[in-house]
Amino acid sequence: MAVTIACIAGEEVHGQWQAGRIGGQRLGSRKTPFGQSGEMFRVEDDGDGFLLVCRHGPGLEKTAPRRVNDRANLYALKDLGAEAVISWGPAGAVTHNVAVGDLVILSDVIDQTFLRDKTFFEDSPLGYLRQFPVFCPRLRRTLGDVLHDMKLVYHGTGVAGVREGPRLETPAEVRMLATMGAELLTHAFVPEVFLARELQLCYASVCYVVNYAETGSRHRPFPSVDLFGQPPEDRERQRLASAVGAMSEIARRVAADIPADAEPCECAGPMAAKVRQYELPADWRKWFT
Ligand SMILES: [Zn+2]
Repeated sequence: MAVTIACIAGEEVHGQWQAGRIGGQRLGSRKTPFGQSGEMFRVEDDGDGFLLVCRHGPGLEKTAPRRVNDRANLYALKDLGAEAVISWGPAGAVTHNVAVGDLVILSDVIDQTFLRDKTFFEDSPLGYLRQFPVFCPRLRRTLGDVLHDMKLVYHGTGVAGVREGPRLETPAEVRMLATMGAELLTHAFVPEVFLARELQLCYASVCYVVNYAETGSRHRPFPSVDLFGQPPEDRERQRLASAVGAMSEIARRVAADIPADAEPCECAGPMAAKVRQYELPADWRKWFT
């Protein structure tokens, strides 16, 4: 039996759904003990399906990143049977080695957010979990194989500095993050990555590069308007549109390619130790007091 895959993505999903580029069942928002999830879908193309949840509503319904209910999204996905999560989102390039339209499979994050709910376990000791490796090695390997087979330009590693947003970073902040080792800047993926570990979900992130962070790249600073403005060059526009449009196919292929009996990963290990230590019930829904 295959691993049940889920994908967390941004507001671009609404446009792709409206345009018929994503097919399947619209599940709507799900109620959880941590509030309402984002809009959910069960995407099915040619039999290889995956669950999909949107962080944001469409248009003016898009919220500041800290308003995204990551706990409800992860809870709802696990409740629907998800075992592994591909997280999808935009990033700005800080390093000289990535370009607009490239994809990056993240290998680590520098968490610079401070307003988000980062654990399910605020009133218990269950959230003291090791974060190494940060992302699931098995899922990252499968993603690399899929992106290679799809002939997409991608990078197999990348460190993302995750900022609170929604505003973009100042030039001095970009320089600071570059000095700290960030290769990309984004507002996504945190605390999803930490919450996934608490629910024993495999989790890996893919960024599509939308711009060059202010003063952070030798290519040139992003010259106009805002993060979500159109890149100025046709070639970049096409590369970016192609990368964003690949999300559904990437998730579908991962769902088809990842074997349930693949080399096991340790993603569930840290929480399994807590389950033994505190004699928690087998039903994960009862871990939250
Ligand atoms: Zn894993």
